[in-house]
Amino acid sequence: METYTPMIQQYLALKESVPGFLLFFRLGDFYELFFDDAKLAAQELEITLTGRDGGLKERIPMCGVPYHSYQPYVKKLIEKGYKVAICEQVEDPREAKGVVKREIVRLITPGTYFDEEIGHEKENRFIAAVLGDEKNYAIAHCDITTGEISVTQVQSMEICVEEILAINPAELVVDKDWVTPAALVQNRLVLSPLKEWPDVQSYERFTSHLATPLLQQVTAGLLYYLEETQRKSLDHLQPVKQYEREQYLAMDVSARRNLELFETIREKKKRGSLLWLIDGTRTAMGGRLLRQWLEKPLRSIPEITRRQEVVHFFLHHFFEREELRGYLSQMYDLERLLGRVAVGMVNGREMVHLRESLKLIPVIKQMLSTQEDPIIQEIAQSVSEIPELVERLDVALVDEPPISLKEGGLIRRGYHEELDKLHDARTNGKTWIAQLEAEERTRTGIKNLKVGFNKVFGYYIEITKGNLKHLEEGRYERKQTLTNSERFITPELKEKEALILGAEEKIIDLEYELFIKLRDQVKEYVELIQSIAHQIAALDVLQGLAQIAEGEGWIRPHIVDDGALIIEQGRHPVVEAVVGKGQFIANDTFLDQEQSTLLITGPNMAGKSTYMRQVALIVILAQMGSYVPAAEATIPLVDQLFTRIGAADDLVAGQSTFMVEMAEIKSTTAATGRSLVLIDEIGRGTSTADGMAIAQAVVEYFHQLGCKTLISTHYHELAALEQHLPHLRNVHMAVEERQDEVIFLRKLVPGATNESYGIYCAEIAKLPISIVARARELLQHYRETHPVAVPQVMTIQEQVERTKPLEPRETQLGQKEREVLKQLAQLELITTTPLDALQWLYRLQQMMKDGE
Ligand code: ADP
Repeated sequence: METYTPMIQQYLALKESVPGFLLFFRLGDFYELFFDDAKLAAQELEITLTGRDGGLKERIPMCGVPYHSYQPYVKKLIEKGYKVAICEQVEDPREAKGVVKREIVRLITPGTYFDEEIGHEKENRFIAAVLGDEKNYAIAHCDITTGEISVTQVQSMEICVEEILAINPAELVVDKDWVTPAALVQNRLVLSPLKEWPDVQSYERFTSHLATPLLQQVTAGLLYYLEETQRKSLDHLQPVKQYEREQYLAMDVSARRNLELFETIREKKKRGSLLWLIDGTRTAMGGRLLRQWLEKPLRSIPEITRRQEVVHFFLHHFFEREELRGYLSQMYDLERLLGRVAVGMVNGREMVHLRESLKLIPVIKQMLSTQEDPIIQEIAQSVSEIPELVERLDVALVDEPPISLKEGGLIRRGYHEELDKLHDARTNGKTWIAQLEAEERTRTGIKNLKVGFNKVFGYYIEITKGNLKHLEEGRYERKQTLTNSERFITPELKEKEALILGAEEKIIDLEYELFIKLRDQVKEYVELIQSIAHQIAALDVLQGLAQIAEGEGWIRPHIVDDGALIIEQGRHPVVEAVVGKGQFIANDTFLDQEQSTLLITGPNMAGKSTYMRQVALIVILAQMGSYVPAAEATIPLVDQLFTRIGAADDLVAGQSTFMVEMAEIKSTTAATGRSLVLIDEIGRGTSTADGMAIAQAVVEYFHQLGCKTLISTHYHELAALEQHLPHLRNVHMAVEERQDEVIFLRKLVPGATNESYGIYCAEIAKLPISIVARARELLQHYRETHPVAVPQVMTIQEQVERTKPLEPRETQLGQKEREVLKQLAQLELITTTPLDALQWLYRLQQMMKDGE
């Protein structure tokens, strides 16, 4: 019977041990892929598919990449969501008996990808793990390049999915029996099922402080997976942080997307997002931290205030800010550098970057500590310095080492005695050779005689053919013949050569050894440097926010625990930046218990969505500790933010716009009295009656819930709800009609509109005149035949009775106010003269003032 060759059998055994991975099998100078892996890789990497004899009749499909430049290929596969196993030869092929021994040394997956050179990356790459029992779910996530790990526990699958989507991991470690919820399937997450969860005991060092067994287990599982893939120690992992969703302003996925916090909806670009606008950071660490802060705005007044204080300081200390920004620009990515130190991937140049960055710390510290501001002083004190390490790196490492660790040139003279001696030997040898060249020229009288070096023959004396006759017989040994010259050696030359080359080899080995020692010394400071890095990142974010606040003219919001949300002259930060300063029309916002729902009407393009978004963005900015685009703002802490905006803009695969909208409305129902809800153009995408019915039901629902709600609608009929829902106010975006022209004033004013100007928009869009004219005619016709029906409204009381019990709201009207309202209702406007009206107003005012 035919069998595979021993090597292919070895391959198959290794391949079986890593199901789901493409196996890069080291064969000489190549990593080869075989069988289906080869077909797939050839296609994905656009490399040639060949074949190899494997012992059977049919050839085995094969393709390969050179071992010294395999990284870009791996990167490409990882980015496409594949996982790669790297298999090396672990014995010298020359000494091997039979097939060379091979082992899988590393697994590379989307969540653990580590190879890239450190760029200026302002994004984390997370890997997450999830585990559930009957009631709870725990989610742990880690950025292996920086060593951050966080874990949380939630009570429902829905929230668990929200949390995973918020983390947005490149890879998710799950239990083998995990059934992926639809929402995650759509996101095309790379899943890595764990056959077995590890024993928590072995990870006690990391998990003992976590509150529940589930939290401990999920963290242990994640760490186990990281070890499995890296197959080396991960000394830079930071203490595991446990957090609760309740600590932060929760935003659902659609809020993040619709508010364009991190990328624009249409183009998925950072440019045009809120993050883009507020990113004044100078370091990659700061950039990543800013993203995390925006991801998780706070819900703690002291914490928010602390951030505000620092922003305040840098806003009012221009020169200090500029100085700090200067230092930060010279700072490298300490967090990722440390990661590379810890896993042993750091090169000489990166070590120098680390050293140079650490040198800036005392300078920054010094600058901050001379400030009067107590918070700044406190920060200055809390940043540690590590002078002993910096000094050691300074005396040891040259300023511009090569990237490779295997060619010397890393260590400074004077650092190590033996190394210096070797250097001397080498230099002396080279001087000797230079002398030899001069001597030989004199001896032979050949002016163009030269001593050269190449890797194959070592040092040689080169004589052009015409000069050969001048050579002394027997003294020179011929080594190589070229077209125009001959190369010779002499015993003394060879002797010196051995000395020089020996020294060179020893230098390389010794330098490598010394470098590794240095690297291990840095490792001892990992925790300390991580804390420094974190402090620097925070300073960077805050100085950046001050920079933006100054540039954009933002103010410090008052953060209060509860009460009215008041924004005076609020602006949409990004739209303002785009349309230009002074071009944006500011608008006020007032929402409290008595006026919790704003129903915004107005034509298309009037600025309704911009207004609603601006309110949400101001709240988010305020709670992350930033200043905000307004003249004044009081922001009560919001617990959750929900949005349903712009269904027409984003089609999620496989769902109709209307269904997406309904799904989003559903998630919104988790809102509480402390939540902020934005609903834009509800009830589109179905028939008018249907849509209006849904819209009204939704309005009634949120009104009843008492959360702060902004609802825009083009069903201006809904404005009639104001008469029945006591906490709802109609507002609209003002437009001015001049002759046949409509001018958008972008000003929010009380009351409702009764025009939607759809036909006007059609005209602007340059639809043929005939269509526009016909539409006008039809509209007229509809208006005459279908007079607008005022919707039936359910009172709060009725709603309360029919649905879940809600706390009845206190109406805070006193006796006096009620009397005023009663009189107002009774006033016969038709028969009242202006003078009467004025007197009447005066009476009412007196009544209100009485007893004040
Ligand atoms: P609507 O939701 O009413 O259809 P949008 O909010 O989408 O309208 O606004 C349409 C456009 O008008 C925006 O893209 C923006 O360029 C501009 N705009 C909106 N609000 C303002 C404002 N307050 N000041 C200046 N321009 C605005």
